[in-house]
Amino acid sequence: MQALHTFVVRSKLPEPLQALDDLAMNLRWSWDRRTQELFRQVDPEAWEANGHDPKGLLSTASLERLDMLAADARFRAELGEVHADLQRYMAEPRWFHQRPENNVRSVAYFSPEFGLSEALPQYSGGLGALAGDHLKAASDLGVPLTAVGLLYRQGYFRQALNADGWQTERYPTLDPQVLPVRLLEGAAVTVDLAGAPLVAQIWQVDVGRVRLLLLDADVADNDPEGRRVTDRLYGGGGEHRLRQEIVLGIGGVRALDAVGLDSQIFHTNEGHAGFLGLERIRRLVVEDGLRLPEAVEAVRSGTVFTTHTPVAAGIDRFPRDLMERYFKPWADECDVDFDDLMALGHVPGEPADAPFNMAVMGLRLAAASNGVSKLHGEVSRAMYKPLWPDLAVDEVPIGSVTNGVHGRSWVSSEMDDVFSRHVSPAWPQADEAAWAGLVHSPDDELWQARNRGRAQLVARVRRRLRSSALALGASPSDAAWCDTVLDPDVLTVGFARRFAVYKRATLLLTQPERLEALLLSPDRPVQLVFAGKAHPADDLGKEMIRQVVEFSRRPKVGHRMVFVADYDIALARTLYQGCDVWLNNPRRPLEACGTSGEKAALNGALNCSILDGWWAEMFDGENGWAVSSAETSEDLARRDSFEADSLFDVLERQVVPLFYAREEGVPRPWLQRVRSSLVSLGPRVVADRMVRDYVEQYYEPMGRRADALRASHHAPAKGLSAWKQRVRSGWHEVAIHSLDGEVSPVDLGAERVVDVVVHVGPLSTDDIAVELLHGPLDADGELGPSRQRMELVGPERGRNQFRYRAQFTCTRAGRYGYTVRVVPDHPDLVDPAEMGCVAWA
Ligand SMILES: *Cc1c(COP(=O)(O)O)cnc(C)c1O
Repeated sequence: MQALHTFVVRSKLPEPLQALDDLAMNLRWSWDRRTQELFRQVDPEAWEANGHDPKGLLSTASLERLDMLAADARFRAELGEVHADLQRYMAEPRWFHQRPENNVRSVAYFSPEFGLSEALPQYSGGLGALAGDHLKAASDLGVPLTAVGLLYRQGYFRQALNADGWQTERYPTLDPQVLPVRLLEGAAVTVDLAGAPLVAQIWQVDVGRVRLLLLDADVADNDPEGRRVTDRLYGGGGEHRLRQEIVLGIGGVRALDAVGLDSQIFHTNEGHAGFLGLERIRRLVVEDGLRLPEAVEAVRSGTVFTTHTPVAAGIDRFPRDLMERYFKPWADECDVDFDDLMALGHVPGEPADAPFNMAVMGLRLAAASNGVSKLHGEVSRAMYKPLWPDLAVDEVPIGSVTNGVHGRSWVSSEMDDVFSRHVSPAWPQADEAAWAGLVHSPDDELWQARNRGRAQLVARVRRRLRSSALALGASPSDAAWCDTVLDPDVLTVGFARRFAVYKRATLLLTQPERLEALLLSPDRPVQLVFAGKAHPADDLGKEMIRQVVEFSRRPKVGHRMVFVADYDIALARTLYQGCDVWLNNPRRPLEACGTSGEKAALNGALNCSILDGWWAEMFDGENGWAVSSAETSEDLARRDSFEADSLFDVLERQVVPLFYAREEGVPRPWLQRVRSSLVSLGPRVVADRMVRDYVEQYYEPMGRRADALRASHHAPAKGLSAWKQRVRSGWHEVAIHSLDGEVSPVDLGAERVVDVVVHVGPLSTDDIAVELLHGPLDADGELGPSRQRMELVGPERGRNQFRYRAQFTCTRAGRYGYTVRVVPDHPDLVDPAEMGCVAWA
């Protein structure tokens, strides 16, 4: 029967329990065990049933139960203490407040998704989980950061499998009334969507000390089509995506204004929010009278862009006609030629009608950019080199900060106890020396924590399987098989991530006999747990899921291999905490970082992975296993087969024997390796380390620079822009005329003098730096990166010619070399390479 009218009955807490509402509305509960325990006590059964969701719990709690708790003095006392602890956490000085040169006032962090908790399903995968962990660590460190995103009324999709093992998608509509979000009354913003105004209201999420603003177009002011703009994460086609990104980028900047925030630094997590740059440019042009290049300079000065993927499908490209429809008014208002706008999303030499690339705009509108692991930094420099055609690839100005994970959000309470005892009660902030304390942790203690995690994994996976079987119409007796799946004492290997083709979830299935032998070994068996969603439009990804499901349904292996549907943060946590081995076998170097392995490692799992992303820089031979990759092979099938061989070899010869080598039932050498893994990785994989890196390497220098360029009505930004224009237009005349230097052999330790004459054309010697690059040659005859600035000796005969000189010592025997180049030089450049101008000898 349908209701004629529907309305919401708001829960009302009895006076003594009011503080529960504060606790439920601040997501700090999601990483504070004591708060979670308090909510569990409100109603243990409902807590488990609703998947650990305080807001949901309070909204369904009965009046009787609440009155009973209000009368319970012990509960009230605990509530008082937990609430006081939250207030202390919100107020006390933290790491950031002890920074010596504290010039960062406010960072605005933009992301299309945030994975903070299963209770706020506004994420699809790694990018969201990373953004969520960034906010939590920023809160713990006291960084003054405000985040901006969208509230998707249907979140991402919920995954189920049909009888054939094919993924099906559901989009249940979320009710903000029972989410940990609150509406900021009167703080709506309006954006223009191809001539039609769209209103978005703003919800606030409290993430510890950090505020997250979520824009939501589902309001009565908009027509039905407008209301659907923020319906689903990554739903719809190109135009839908463009509309969402306009709300996120342009609406997001306006939302910060609407709540009264003057942001100093903008950090964009991937290109999707890139239109924030266009909104900031528009203001500088319209309100402050800057010209486009000056506004670009001013906007760049305080912007950090993080690129997250080398996979083309992960980068938005919008066709020109679509861009014209939505951004012609922008170009008119700024009095900018539309080709100049398009050029912001193009590499040099691309035709004006090429699609607009959001990552390219991200790089152009940020003074600092980075990839998310050392290897990904390298890959990104090569990938985006066309933006700086004259630079050597290692000088392309894209750095790297390796992703980390928020320890307390992912680690089991048992491991948390181990770390608290042997590392530090504040282990997420602990340094290497403190982590080394883990060598004193007894085997039994570690082994018990691991066993408990595995047992919980088995229990929770069975529970999930049973409920999905029942949902598909199975009778309870038909679903009884679910209790025979997995074994709490068997070596457990996990593979859970997006089913994107390059991640190769089916690599193990390519050698079915070897896989079966591993699973079915009578004395040393392995069990495999898979989970992950394929994008709804990705049929290849769905086919991989189907193959995994089909294999797991073979009668012989059904109890040793399982695909668990509807991967989310709760399931992820269970898997990280319970697996012994975390498997990752992407096609290198397509995994920019990968963070699931970091979460598993913190729980004492051992990584077995291709040397890609974070693992390429952190594997040390003792802390897990490396699978060989054959990326030089052009033949993908041969490459896959080689890499599958390597993976099976590692599993069969190393992993399995080590896990089952027991002394009195305890795998001592295995636990030794777990300790090595924790000691070496613990201090490096935590999000605290990542956010500290961002503060020290990016936010602080950017803050200084943004303030400097903004001074006296942007005069320095205008000056820099005019200087760049002058240097760029005269650069083709800059040349090195003569390079004098000895090339006869010398003895080790000898000095060499190099002299050059530089023609500066219309520029002056203040505009340039002349650099000597010298050193031993490598096997390919290439010079290393060491360079030194040459000194100006004085003018030469001939117009605009100057002599420069440098000397160096030959510190290594063998083949030595040098060369000279000229680059632009200005005190307000972040990196001399950013202009891409170089004149070589
Ligand atoms: C950590 C995490 C991811 C990212 O895993 P990758 O290893 O980067 O693929 C995806 N989804 C969830 C739910 C996560 O917690």
